[in-house]
Amino acid sequence: MHTQYTDDDATFRTEVREFLVHNYSDDLRQRMGNADTYRAALIEWQKILHKQGWVAPGWPVEHGGTGWTHSQRFIFDTERASYGAPDGNLFGLSLVAPVIYTFGSKDQQDHFLPRILAAEDWWCQGYSEPGSGSDLASLQTKAIRDGDDYVVNGAKIWTTNAHLADWIFCLVRTNPDAARKQEGISFLLIDMKSPGITVNPIISIDGRHTLNQVTFDDVRVPLGNCVGEENKGWTYAKALLTHERTATAGVSDSKRQLNLLKTYAAAEASNGRPIIEDADFQRRLAEIQVEMLALEYTELRVLSTVSRGGAPGAESSFLKIKGTEVLQAVQTLAMDLAGLYGGVLSTDANSAALEHEFGPQTRVSYMYGRASTIYSGSNEVQRNVIAKAILGL
Ligand SMILES: Cc1cc2nc3c(=O)[nH]c(=O)nc-3n(C[C@H](O)[C@H](O)[C@H](O)COP(=O)(O)OP(=O)(O)OC[C@H]3O[C@@H](n4cnc5c(N)ncnc54)[C@H](O)[C@@H]3O)c2cc1C
Repeated sequence: MHTQYTDDDATFRTEVREFLVHNYSDDLRQRMGNADTYRAALIEWQKILHKQGWVAPGWPVEHGGTGWTHSQRFIFDTERASYGAPDGNLFGLSLVAPVIYTFGSKDQQDHFLPRILAAEDWWCQGYSEPGSGSDLASLQTKAIRDGDDYVVNGAKIWTTNAHLADWIFCLVRTNPDAARKQEGISFLLIDMKSPGITVNPIISIDGRHTLNQVTFDDVRVPLGNCVGEENKGWTYAKALLTHERTATAGVSDSKRQLNLLKTYAAAEASNGRPIIEDADFQRRLAEIQVEMLALEYTELRVLSTVSRGGAPGAESSFLKIKGTEVLQAVQTLAMDLAGLYGGVLSTDANSAALEHEFGPQTRVSYMYGRASTIYSGSNEVQRNVIAKAILGL
């Protein structure tokens, strides 16, 4: 992207690059890629970002945000992704935190926000249920008042990293008799150590364990863990979803995957010529790059609105659709490029035996990437949101 940066932006970009080189070590990178060491590595990285004051670019300054301009945010995200460094814990920093600092009580803000920043608590998201995905407002998990607590019963599904989490934020039904299904829902913060919570793994098509089903059997949750007003949780959940969709667009990360692909295509030969010189490959690459450039500018526009104090609106649905379509196009091209190597399961052992990192890694990204047009609200549902909010249908 040929953005004209100011001198200050250029200085900032150098500062970010130097920070990454000095702090995101090869050892940390390696531990991040291993399921057994991933959690500890991500916490360590988030603490490094926190110490630098860079952990929460999207937060208001008074709660620990960076106060960056939208171009600084863009620069940071682009540099971070191109260096292959992850964000901190998305569910804490980007999803539950905006709900807490916007709608939570002072006690909730004072307790949870510093812990989220410092990676003291790992969060997961309990929205979807076995019978409620796209039609989320039909959710059935109940929270009934009993003394100073709610008693929660029900099940959540597809809960990413629930097996690693300290806390879960949940939508629960507190008034089953409400006239509309969107009414009578509350937003609860639940300690994963509470008696009565069971986490069962779901192994996804990429062969990894990131998904879970979480069941609640008479789980007691203090009334003080309800965010905002009881029965108004749907309003807060909707606000959160716009942040989630914006985050899901993942433009910088798609760009990194595309750059890796280009490096590999330049090195790998077919019929004696590097694949990057193949006309059909170049056409597909060019199509993706054009889409990606348009997406980058759209993301900048949304970031600009947010940094002026606005919230991402229906544009977040547009970003989510195009962002995930571009991601899948990159991953499909990578699979075609990897050829037979893309059929190999990723384990340290077989990658080493093949001396071929690209194939197994590509397979995992491709397989998990199929889900990107489903999670954070499926792309079909996002088209409905756009039709209603923008076209007025
Ligand atoms: C990898 C992954 C991670 C996830 N992580 C989490 C998580 O951490 N926390 C969480 O709460 N949830 C999570 N989810 C769940 C996710 O949000 C839901 O899968 C998603 O909202 C779709 O719901 P569903 O699976 O019940 O599908 P359904 O709602 O049953 O949809 C099935 C199909 O019908 C289409 N469809 C449904 N309704 C409409 C409509 N009105 N118009 C047009 N088409 C429609 C959908 O687009 C889809 O293609 C995750 C899902 C995946 C795949």
